[in-house]
Parts: sequence; structure tokens; C-alpha cells
Amino acid sequence: MAAPSTPTEDTTLTEDDVRARTQAVLDSVGVDADEVTFRGALWDAGLAMVQFPVGKGGLAASPKLQGAVEETIRAAGRFFHPLATNTIGIGMGLPTVLTYGSEEHHEKYLRRIFTGEDWWCQMFSEPSHGSDVAGLSSRAVRDGDEWVVNGQKVWTSVAHISRYGMLLVRTDPDQPKHKGLSYFILDMHAPGVEIRPLYQITGEAEFNEVFFTDVRIPHSDLLGDVGDGWRVATTTLMNERVALGGSTAPRGSGNIGTLVDLWNKRGPELPVAERAIMRDRVSQLWIEAEVGRLTTLRARSNATVGNPGPEGSVGKLASAELNQRIWIACMDLLGADGMMHEPGYPLTREEGLGRGAQSLSKSFLRSQANTIEGGTSDIMRNILGERVLGLPGEPRVDKDVPWKDIPT
Ligand SMILES: Cc1cc2nc3c(=O)[nH]c(=O)nc-3n(C[C@H](O)[C@H](O)[C@H](O)COP(=O)(O)OP(=O)(O)OC[C@H]3O[C@@H](n4cnc5c(N)ncnc54)[C@H](O)[C@@H]3O)c2cc1C
Repeated sequence: MAAPSTPTEDTTLTEDDVRARTQAVLDSVGVDADEVTFRGALWDAGLAMVQFPVGKGGLAASPKLQGAVEETIRAAGRFFHPLATNTIGIGMGLPTVLTYGSEEHHEKYLRRIFTGEDWWCQMFSEPSHGSDVAGLSSRAVRDGDEWVVNGQKVWTSVAHISRYGMLLVRTDPDQPKHKGLSYFILDMHAPGVEIRPLYQITGEAEFNEVFFTDVRIPHSDLLGDVGDGWRVATTTLMNERVALGGSTAPRGSGNIGTLVDLWNKRGPELPVAERAIMRDRVSQLWIEAEVGRLTTLRARSNATVGNPGPEGSVGKLASAELNQRIWIACMDLLGADGMMHEPGYPLTREEGLGRGAQSLSKSFLRSQANTIEGGTSDIMRNILGERVLGLPGEPRVDKDVPWKDIPT
């Protein structure tokens, strides 16, 4: 398969056009339509991801026009954000299948990902390979028109409720680690796929271990060429960092809004000196949240049609670390109450992503994952240093060695 071409942008569309098209969708399905109907109508009107091609959920327009869709819907009294459901499918699966999939893949998968009818998961990390994911060892061996997969993945968010998965496996152990990988769409209901829950510090199991025993995948579900998996995976990862990065929600909303509300409630009870220090901390965090929000808006207004580059790691790094500092401040304001959990601290199977982390203490616990999921902060700094700032790379002694000869 040749390298995917960069799509061209329709520069004639204006914000007013997009608002009018969004209003037409609202008029046709109504503001109270169920999520699948509403999202389906947006997809058909090209308003799901305006930067996507015409006929495939978009208008080939500048991604900055997406804000006009969201604002028009919010003004009509309905909350809408493309990633509010099926985050991994929409944030990562959708752009990857669009970029590397065939017309049949587009037809079969794209719309159902966006409507949330088919959830998707990402199966990259393995017990010995997280940051160094290119060194992974799950194997796929070709057998006629099929591939036979054996191995194990770990930390696979929402695998238990996913219909399909993005699977990165080794197809040629004689090649250096980045070159012997291939990328498949996996039917999560295929025989030989076993999913076991992993409980997190919050008590919820939103992620899993996934085991493969002689799982058969049709060759037609390969994305990119055989051995081209690293390039396809890079597209997924760059989109992941943007999806996990900064928010464009209204000023002062979200986690920082929670902190400010708590400050208004608890702040007056603090001793004078402590109150002054805490006020300073809350103000500083509010400023950082606003800087992050404005930076995300600026990035959106500069974005063009196509996949993001390594600069998406800026938002991921900054928002993950800020988020943790906000929840630490919440815990400090709560004092001993911050240690209280729901009675029994029940272990639950999470039916979404981060949906169970409702209480302040659980949100604090969940935020510990922010600097790990989607690549750790150390790895974000490496990417930014090497690929954005052009600093010297870290030593990579195993880069050109056949994977099978790398000591494990
Ligand atoms: C909530 C959550 C959800 C997740 N969901 C998914 C998912 O859906 N699919 C999936 O595939 N994975 C998922 N992951 C896994 C995640 O991508 C990995 O945990 C992450 O990439 C780190 O890998 P690791 O855990 O193996 O840690 P390691 O790679 O072993 O890292 C250990 C420590 O060493 C540091 N380190 C490692 N290499 C370097 C380096 N070169 N330079 C500097 N420091 C380094 C790391 O920063 C870290 O502090 C999820 C993780 C979490 C916490």
C-alpha cells in the first residue's frame, strides 16, 4: 500500500455555513434525539468531524470549524463533544481506519464508531513493553488468507465492552523491532480472545488483560502493509495524544471549576494564613487551566486537514500534570474528608472510560493514571525534545538489531 495522500481542504466553507448545516440537523432530528440517531445525523451531514472527507463524516473543511458545530448544538440546549462517547474508537480508531483502511473498511466501520454502536479498544501495551511498545512480542503468523495470533496485551481500556480492537503484533522477528510489526483490526468476539478485568486504584476495572490463543484474523483486516505496523501505530498514538490533551470546554468549567467550587465552600473555613496560601494556589491553577484551554483553542485554529504530528504531546503532557495538581489541591482543601470513600470501597466493572470516578477522592485517585496512560510524561518529554525541539536523541542501542536477537 502506498503512503496515504494528504487530503485537500475546502477553503470555501465558512463558520456560518457550518452553523446553518448544524441547525438543519437539529431541526430534522430534534434536540432530544437519542445519541445514536443524533450522531448518525451529524455523520451524514458531514458535521461529525468536519475535517474528514465528504461522504465520510466530514466536509473536507478546516478542523477549526468543528467548534461552530459544538457551539450551535450547545446553544440549542444539548451537550455535544465528538469524544464524549467511545473515546478510543473516535479519537484513535476513526482517524487510523480513515487513513489506512480500504473503502470496505470505511463503509463497515467508520460511521458505527462515531455513533458509538461499535466501541473500539487499543491493544498495544504488553507486560514487558509499554513505553518501548515497538519491542512487543505477541506474534501473528500467516496461514493462507488468515493470520494466527498468539500472545498477551495488558492495560487494555474498555476491551470488555469493545466490538473491535486495534491490534499491533510482531509478524517478522528477523527484522529490527520497528520494522517487523503489523497492524490489524481484531474482532473482539473472535474465538481465542480472552478478556480478564484488572482493578485500578479507584476500585473500578476499566481496563483488562487480553489473551490470544490461535486467534484467526482475515488478511483483509490488515491496516497498512505487512511490516508497516509502526507507521500505522504512530498515527494512532499521535491522535491519542491530541484526544487526551487539552480541553476546549468553556472557561472555568471541568476540573478547575470543581476546585473553584470547593474553594468557595471550604476556603472561608481555613485559618487566615492557610487561606492566603490556598487562594494563591487556586488562582495559579486557574491561570494554568486557562492558558491550557487557550493553547488548545489556538492549536485548533492553526490545525489543518490530516493527522496531527508530535506537537500534540504538548497538550497531553501539560494537561495530565495540571490535572493531578488540581486534584491534589482538592484533597488538601478536603483535609481528612479526602480519605473518605463510598462504604465498602466496592470493586466494580466499569462500563465506560473514567465514568465511575465521580467522587472527589476517586477523581484524585483516577488522575494518577493521567501521567501514564497514552504514554508517560517522561516519554512525552522525550518526544517533544527530540521531534519538536530537535534536541539530540537518547541512545537506542537495539534499534538496528534483529528483534529476535535483542536480549529480553
Ligand atoms: C489508565 C490506563 C489506561 C491504559 N489504556 C491502555 C490501552 O487502552 N491500550 C494500551 O495499549 N495501553 C494502555 N495503557 C498502558 C500505557 O500506555 C502504559 O502503561 C504506558 O505506555 C507505560 O508503559 P509501562 O506501564 O509498561 O511502563 P514502563 O514503560 O515500564 O515505564 C516505567 C517507568 O520508566 C519510565 N521510562 C520508560 N522508558 C523511558 C525512557 N526511554 N526515558 C525516560 N523514562 C522512561 C516511564 O516514564 C515510567 O516512569 C493504559 C495505562 C493506564 C494507566
